[in-house]
Amino acid sequence: MDLGIKGRRALVCASSKGLGLGCARALAGAGVDLVMNARGAEALETAAQAIRTEFGVKVTPVAADITSDSGRSQVLKAAGDADILVTNAGGPPPGMWTDWEREDFIKALDANMLTPIALMKALLPGMMDRGWGRVVNITSQSVKSPIGVLGLSNSARAGLTGYVAGTARQVAPSGVNINNLLPGIHATDRANSLDGAAAEKEGIALDEARARRAATIPARRYGTAEEFGAACAFLCSNLAGFIVGQNILLDGGAMNSTL
Ligand code: NAP
Repeated sequence: MDLGIKGRRALVCASSKGLGLGCARALAGAGVDLVMNARGAEALETAAQAIRTEFGVKVTPVAADITSDSGRSQVLKAAGDADILVTNAGGPPPGMWTDWEREDFIKALDANMLTPIALMKALLPGMMDRGWGRVVNITSQSVKSPIGVLGLSNSARAGLTGYVAGTARQVAPSGVNINNLLPGIHATDRANSLDGAAAEKEGIALDEARARRAATIPARRYGTAEEFGAACAFLCSNLAGFIVGQNILLDGGAMNSTL
C-alpha cells in the first residue's frame, strides 16, 4: 500500500527503542525523512544509522530530554517544518495511590501531557499554513481502562486526551489530523521493567510474571513495536485524512468492551 507520504519530514520523539523506534522505522519504510530523539546518544545513533542503511532516508538524531524546555528547543530546531509529529516519552513509574505527592504528579504531567502539548503548539501552525499535517500521540490503554499501579500515567494521559479531543477538531479544517495510539502490553524495555516490578512484588520469576500478563490478553501474547509502527504510519498517511481526534487501542483485545 502506498501511504502517499514519501519525501515528507517527521519528528519522532523518544525513538531509539521500543514503540517510538517502531514508528520511526515504519515511517522510514514509507519514504519519510526523520528527526529522531532520545536521551542516550549511543543507542540513538545506532538506531538512526540502521534506518539510514535499511531505508535510504535522511535521519537527523538529536540526543536530548524531550521533557525539558532546552531539550525540546534543540529537537524543534532540528525538526524545522516537520509535516508529521509523533510524540512519545518514557512512562511514569508504577506505585500506589498513597505514595504519590504533588511533585510526582508534576513530573508525570510534564512528561506525558505538557510535553506533547508544547510540541503540538510549536508545530501545528506551520502544518496548518501548509495545509497538511499529521500528529500521533503515543498514550496508553490506561486512558480507556485504568491500571491501578500506573495512577500517574492514568492521570497525565487522560489530560492529554482531553486536550487532543478539542484541538483535533480545531485544526482539522486546515488538513491537519491529530490522533492518539493507545498501546496495550507490547514487548519493549518498558514492558520488561513493569514485569520485573510485578515479579518482585509477587515473589515470582520474571518469566512467570510475563506469562501471567500474556494470559490476560485474548491474543495470548504481547504486541510488537513493528505492529505498533505500522498503525502509526497509516495514521500519518495520506489515506488517513478522515480520521480525526480518535483514540485507537492496540491491545490484543485486552480491554473487554463492546465499543
Ligand atoms: P521503552 O522501550 O522503554 O523506550 C523508551 C524510548 O524513549 C527509548 O528510546 C528512550 O531512550 C526514550 N526516552 C525515554 N524518556 C525520554 C525522554 N525524557 N526524552 C527523550 N527520549 C526518552 O518504552 P516503550 O515501551 O516504547 O514505551 C513508550 C511509551 O508508551 C511510554 O510512555 C510507555 O509508558 C507507553 N506505553 C508502553 C506500553 C508497553 O507495553 N510497552 C504500554 C502502554 C503504554 P532514552 O532512555 O535513551 O532517552
